[in-house]
Order: sequence, then C-alpha cells, then structure tokens
Amino acid sequence: MIELLRNNIRQLTPYSTARDDYQGPKLDVLLDANENPYNNGYNRYPDPHQRQLKSIIAAQKGVSAEQVFMGNGSDEAIDLMYRLFCNPGIDNAVSIAPTYGMYSVAAEINDIELREVSLRADYSLDVEALLAATDSHTKLLWICSPNNPTGNAFAEDDILALLNRFPGIVIIDEAYQDFSSQPSWITRLNEFPHLVVLQTFSKAWGLAGLRCGLAFASTEICSYMDRVKYPYNINMLTQQKVMDTLQNSLQQKENQVNTIVSERKRMAQSLINSKYIRTIYPSDANFLLIQVDDAKQWYNKLISLGVLVRDRSSLKACPNCLRITIGTPEENDRVIRAFMHD
Ligand SMILES: *Cc1c(COP(=O)(O)O)cnc(C)c1O
Repeated sequence: MIELLRNNIRQLTPYSTARDDYQGPKLDVLLDANENPYNNGYNRYPDPHQRQLKSIIAAQKGVSAEQVFMGNGSDEAIDLMYRLFCNPGIDNAVSIAPTYGMYSVAAEINDIELREVSLRADYSLDVEALLAATDSHTKLLWICSPNNPTGNAFAEDDILALLNRFPGIVIIDEAYQDFSSQPSWITRLNEFPHLVVLQTFSKAWGLAGLRCGLAFASTEICSYMDRVKYPYNINMLTQQKVMDTLQNSLQQKENQVNTIVSERKRMAQSLINSKYIRTIYPSDANFLLIQVDDAKQWYNKLISLGVLVRDRSSLKACPNCLRITIGTPEENDRVIRAFMHD
C-alpha cells in the first residue's frame, strides 16, 4: 500500500514525545513535557498511542492492536484517508450516492474530486458503474454498509467484486454494523491489504458525545494514520470512559441493540398501515428511511408534535423521504401515533 501514499506522507518525520523516545523501566519523576506537576487526575498528557484501549479493542474484535486506529470520531479517520492518499487537485475518490455526507465534505476540504455513483433503484451497488468511474488517479472508494441514509447493507458478493477489482483503498464504513445481521468485514482484513473498515462508538455503544471512532486496517495503513493524526487526538476522559464501557457495558450495549432492532421491526410493521406512507425501505441500521406523500409537510407536522426527524427529500434518490432514528419504545409510539391519525 506504500505506493498509494502521497510522497510527503511517506517521507514525513512524525512528531514524537520524550516518552516515545525513552524506552525503559517506568520513571517516577516526569519533567519532560512541561506539564503541571500537581496531580488532579488530568495534569498529564494522555497516551498518544492509546495502547491499553487498543489492546482491549483488538482482543474483543479478534485483530491485532496494530490493526486498530482510534480517531476523534470516525470523521477524523475519513479526513485522514484523503490526507494520506490523495494529492490535492490531482487525485480523486469514488463514492456511492446517496450516502453519508462527510465523505464529500472532507473531499472538498482537501481539494479532492469526489465522483458520486448512484445506487440502483433498489439501492443496491452498481459495481460496474463504480469501477467505470475510477481511473489511474482514483485512490479511494467509499462504501457505507449499512448505508446512511438508505439503511440497507450491501451484498457480500458486490463488495467482494469491488475489493478484488479496485486497486486503490476500499473503505467500508460500518457505523451501523451492530444493527445488521451481516458479518463485519473486519474478519477479512488479512485477505485485503487495501481494505479499511470504519466503526464508531457513536451509535450502538451510545457514546456519541465522547467522539471516538475506529479504523481497522493493515498494520502499515494504521501506522501512517498514527503518524498524521494530532498526537493527543483522544483525550484522557474519553480513553477512560471507552475502556470502562468496553469492559463493563458490553451486555448493556447488546441488550440495547436487541431492543432497537426489535423496535425497528415494530415501527416498520406499524407504519406500513399508515395511508400517508408509500414505502418503508428495509433497514439494517438504527433508523428507517420512509417515503411519505409529502415530506416537508410531515417534517413540520412531526416538529409540531415535538419530534425532530431528518428530511432527506433533497437527495435525488430519496424523493419525499424522511429518515427516522429508532428511539425508545415511547418515543417510537409518538411517531407511530402521528402517522396513524386521519
Ligand atoms: C454516524 C455515522 C458515523 C459516525 O461518525 P462519528 O464521527 O464516529 O460520530 C460514521 N459513518 C456514518 C455513515 C454515520 O452515519
């Protein structure tokens, strides 16, 4: 994968701390980083390599700690993909459409052309069109599965075809993987050195406020991501809380995911009886994309009932579509009641 990197990144001498340069037994006087010496729990810099946290994640996910990158949200990992691989004004990336908005925002910020290839009418991948959109300057291919906002996970064979035929970096964003019955692509990392899988603590784990996202990739890609990131990108409070959650709240997370998945099913079965709803798209995520008679009207109507949803009707492939996150059973009842009213 080295040959895909930008030259400046390949040649970068990364920032290093005195605690990186020193290798030896633990010292009890730390006068190397201009910190305040008086202990208040947070007077020391956090571990820039997140070693403890990565070893826990690696063990739970069945990968090596060197195959884990931690970012300030997945958004940091998304931005880093452009910064590592794409020469501004020269290289390009390909994504599906519609999909998560950050791939295009980060492309614009980095002055990279993003070529958006429409999903088919049934929201499946158009493998040939995606490959046809690539050229010798295409460094990245973005696949969000389950996809936001359409909700569906893509067929394994289609993703495999892309992995086998596209020679650049294939990023599979699995932000919603916990809600899907399909397996994660993490298990295939060793087969595909150009695969990057994104996950996050923001959705199923219920830690959106902490800003912690994960990338799983080859040791090589992860080591370059680490060189380019801000040294202390994950603060100490976040590292501690994520560690505590991973060790003590796995069961709670699984229970919540099960409830959300069963609520998703109940919502879909209830809403399908509404005369205002035309389509409820199949979802492998923690939201439903629904097509209504008049999205703007329903968006405002729900606001008047105290409920905010996402109006996605401006997207070409989503006319009159609302994206509704699955909430608690009581919150979901509010939505169901709104649509059952005459
Ligand atoms: C919500 C979401 C994320 C999560 O982003 P964070 O920065 O980790 O909060 C990533 N990808 C997709 C597709 C999402 O919908």
